[in-house]
Amino acid sequence: MDIEKILEKEHLEKQDILMLLAAEGDNKKKLFAKSLQVKLKHLDNYVHLRGLIEYSNICTKSCLYCGVRSKNTKVERYTISDEEVLECAELAYKLGYGSVALQSGERFDPDFTRKITYLVKEIKKIGDGALGITLSLGEQSEDTYREWFEAGAHRYLLRIEASNEALYYKIHPHDERHDFKQRLSCIDILIKLGYQTGTGVMVGLPFQTLDDLADDLLFFRSKDIAMVGMGPFIPHPDTPLYQYADQIPSVKERMDLTLKMIAILRLMMPEINMVAATANQTIDPLGREKAIAVGANVIMPNLTPNEYREDYLIYPDKACVSDKPDQCYTCLDIRMQSINHKVLYNAWGDSVAFLKKHGQK
Ligand code: SAH
Repeated sequence: MDIEKILEKEHLEKQDILMLLAAEGDNKKKLFAKSLQVKLKHLDNYVHLRGLIEYSNICTKSCLYCGVRSKNTKVERYTISDEEVLECAELAYKLGYGSVALQSGERFDPDFTRKITYLVKEIKKIGDGALGITLSLGEQSEDTYREWFEAGAHRYLLRIEASNEALYYKIHPHDERHDFKQRLSCIDILIKLGYQTGTGVMVGLPFQTLDDLADDLLFFRSKDIAMVGMGPFIPHPDTPLYQYADQIPSVKERMDLTLKMIAILRLMMPEINMVAATANQTIDPLGREKAIAVGANVIMPNLTPNEYREDYLIYPDKACVSDKPDQCYTCLDIRMQSINHKVLYNAWGDSVAFLKKHGQK
């Protein structure tokens, strides 16, 4: 079937997705033009910001790709103080970012749970509830997720990392701390509790096939997910998966494949929020602009105090590690203007798909 016919379809089937993932040359250009058109029609040219606070790199897990895995003894562990977290959030408020995202390694102890509840409540006080709050703190119990939701967090990001169970266990240890079914069930619990729930995968992993990537996209649609984050896999030298670094697609191929994933998903789910992940910018200086230009609509500028950033290297050479938060601010505005997009300040920028589903729009 020719590409134009596929691009006009209301409902993409797996074989369509596979064709689009393999598109090159003119066909790829047509895909990207269509996904941009669909985004502009449904969501306009607005880009939403989430000021990212990398709260702690202490982690109980040992994911085989992640630089802050507990078994990496080269990392100096930190947790940002309450005062500093609240300063970051104040700064987000002052810069008009509209939302903050709190991300960290995975801890399940009651001290951690209580601390996050406290921080969420304190962030909510800033500007009288002005800031939207996204959490990205890994797998937790239903009670913990509920406690944080009731404290005021309303979005949660938990990437499935790979929706194919066999691939999942090639990139994670196989034990009770790394359990595919549990990660899946966390996503279901988050949705049930009323979070705007986001998930996602890394693109260009060792052992990953186009078939897996097509299934990942179908998985997002089957869960009717509100937000998605997808970025290229970047091998970290202090992790077990680094040994396959010469067997994965090239940097350019991983970038291209990530862009195709974003573009195809925009066709499949026109109103969800999709982030232009920092990993895109790490492997391509214009990676975030490219992601926005093919369908993404969210950027997460880093607000983590600079002294900690070097220790939150989930992958190496992360972009903007030495930038100051206010430099980011003007830089982003100009970058978005350069591709005819507009940063929407002082707004939560919720997922339109989610709001419509819940009768709020
Ligand atoms: N512990 C939290 C936050 C993880 S960091 C959680 O599990 O949700 C956020 C994301 O960074 C991960 O979900 C993963 O998809 C991505 N990531 C980790 N290591 C990476 C690497 N080497 N290359 C690219 N992305 C990576």
